[in-house]
Amino acid sequence: MENTSTETGDVKKKEIAYHPEKCVGCLLCASVCSLLYDKRVNPLKARIKIVRKNYITSKIYTTPECTFCGQCAEICSYEALELIKHAS
Ligand code: SF4
Ligand code: SF4
Repeated sequence: MENTSTETGDVKKKEIAYHPEKCVGCLLCASVCSLLYDKRVNPLKARIKIVRKNYITSKIYTTPECTFCGQCAEICSYEALELIKHAS
């Protein structure tokens, strides 16, 4: 089943769909997020979390601070993240 994270509020405008089975764990998504919002490359500070076990991504999620800017999805070359925009 596809996992998603959504903006809260009355109208759902954007969400990120996660495809952990396509993720190779490169952490480019987390690097760009931390650079944007923490002003340095530090995946631990990113608003997107890649959970890996035995070299396999088991889960991807975003923290409540995620702005749904979509930069993580933009940089992922493996189509493991997908920004979905809904008409408001
Ligand atoms: S979601 Fe994409 S950019 Fe992020 S770690 Fe996985 S493969 Fe890399
Ligand atoms: S959508 Fe933006 S804020 Fe949210 S995890 Fe991706 S880069 Fe970070």
